[in-house]
Amino acid sequence: MKSISALFFVFVCSMGISFGQFSLDRVEPPFWWTGMQNTHLQIMFYGENIAELSPIIRYDGIEVLETVLVENPNYLFLILDIHPDTKAGSFAIEFSKDDMMQLYYSYTLNARSENSGERQGFNNSDAIYLITPDRFVNGDPGNDYMPEIGDTLDRSDPQARHGGDIQGVINSLQYLSDMGFTSIWLNPVLENKMPRTSYHGYAVTDFYKVDPRFGSNEDYQILGQACQKNGFKLIMDMVMNHCGSEHWWMKDLPSNDWIHYGGNYVQTNHRRSVIHDPYAPESDKELFSNGWFVKSMPDMNQQNPLLAEYLIQNSIWWIEYAHLQGIRHDTHSYPDKNFMADWSCAIMDEYPNFNLVGEEWSPNPNYVAYYQRGSNNQDGYNSCMPSMMDFPTQISLVPGFTEPENWNSGFIKIYENLANDFIYPDPYNLVIFPDNHDMSRFYTQVNEDYNAFKMGIAYILTLRGIPQIFYGTEILMSNPGTDAHGIIRSDFPGGWENDVKNAFTGAGLTDQELEAQLLFKSLLNWRKEKACLHDGKLVHYSPKDGIYVFFRFNDEEMVMLVFNKNEEEYTVDKARFQEVIKNRKEAVSVLDGNSSPIEKAVVPAGSVGIFEIN
Ligand code: CA
Repeated sequence: MKSISALFFVFVCSMGISFGQFSLDRVEPPFWWTGMQNTHLQIMFYGENIAELSPIIRYDGIEVLETVLVENPNYLFLILDIHPDTKAGSFAIEFSKDDMMQLYYSYTLNARSENSGERQGFNNSDAIYLITPDRFVNGDPGNDYMPEIGDTLDRSDPQARHGGDIQGVINSLQYLSDMGFTSIWLNPVLENKMPRTSYHGYAVTDFYKVDPRFGSNEDYQILGQACQKNGFKLIMDMVMNHCGSEHWWMKDLPSNDWIHYGGNYVQTNHRRSVIHDPYAPESDKELFSNGWFVKSMPDMNQQNPLLAEYLIQNSIWWIEYAHLQGIRHDTHSYPDKNFMADWSCAIMDEYPNFNLVGEEWSPNPNYVAYYQRGSNNQDGYNSCMPSMMDFPTQISLVPGFTEPENWNSGFIKIYENLANDFIYPDPYNLVIFPDNHDMSRFYTQVNEDYNAFKMGIAYILTLRGIPQIFYGTEILMSNPGTDAHGIIRSDFPGGWENDVKNAFTGAGLTDQELEAQLLFKSLLNWRKEKACLHDGKLVHYSPKDGIYVFFRFNDEEMVMLVFNKNEEEYTVDKARFQEVIKNRKEAVSVLDGNSSPIEKAVVPAGSVGIFEIN
């Protein structure tokens, strides 16, 4: 087995003792809390021959339910019950052999922060800003270069590390607040000791440690606290399906069934439909769920109950530790689907007002709806996922806003997509987005047609659901001529000292980029206060003569969106919308503040009108 690092040796010796053939290298979770809804706690101990030792705990309120040993003698799992009245504090876990103590670990149960279980997750009153932390802002150049971890630091290389970090996000909270965002989702921040393209974070090599190039666990906790203080909800990006091939346990796996196919690479078939296909053979389902996403991402076996519990607790540990108010779950359909239901239900039991959003990248709303809480599935599958990423809507945007208007093209694509909402238990809790870190920038997707861009953004910021904007989309960042991920995730201008172009100050931005930034700022700040855009009703009229119109409204407020794809301006046909407008008379344009009678409201050629209807 791998020898203990010098740093860890100091840590262990300061808290415990080690004799001869035994050692204690890792304890996960490293601490826990009292007063959790679920009173069970599973602790994984890793160290040389630890399985030969007997653990003893003496602390009021804690009962050892079971000591579980696995194939590998370097692991020992302890299952505890923590009585609800157990006091916060530290206690010794002693490991003995033949009545001689060989090791001990000082374990701490912290008190939970006030109303921790009642925390409010992100919801449709929020607007999420998605950040690739390596590429956003370099707040601490001191953590840029860490050759001992691997990978290279080179801003001119789209696949290398660029130096962005958590401090950079903290430094940017004022900008994001001014822009009108209320929630932040960072691509994974946990350690990624991968030798290449580690910057994206999706090949985690330590589930309990923030990557030091982003900062420390404490820095991430400080970000969570700063978010809470400044009215932001922090969303953590998590991956239950796989770890990185450089994960520490890959060199000394607990058991042969910890990683699918005994830890040997077998490629998944990526056929996500087999999960709900009533005609799929077991072999196709097994290869989909158990095969590896890619060779560098070993596929974890969540049917192993110890691993399943490890992963669920890890998510709860980060929620509690970093003050999270949401989780975005990567490749949601790939892990064992029953485990994913256990995972989401365990989190929602502990935090009933929390929010979880899963990624199921399909154009088919049936595939997405299958995973949302309350879905009436033929096979009886029911998860506790409150939210899913609305890929079908994202996929409808480009044809909807760029195609010429015909019976079967143009606006009809977004209109018919929205008509699919009957399949979702809760369409108002879907996350909607024009682009994300895995696809071309929206401005590139619409071939840099600013009118189409503006229509798409106005649509996303007023539609039912929770809008998410990828960093830089607000200043028209693009990836012309390539869909390379490293280019899509280019550096945010102004995030590095001496950047000539600076999105924070506006220096070096073109007039069009400044206009786009102002559009986001106006609409996001307006949306924040406009309750009818959060949970108000939606009525949309079938596209007609190059015009598409929808309304959002509640008893007090009404907003009308008018998309005009014609080469002439459009004057609102009030009579057509009488059923919704009723006795309201005035239309106030949100973009320029002009007011007019509804029947005289005008939308310029190839543009979008956003009106408050009074
Ligand atoms: Ca840095």
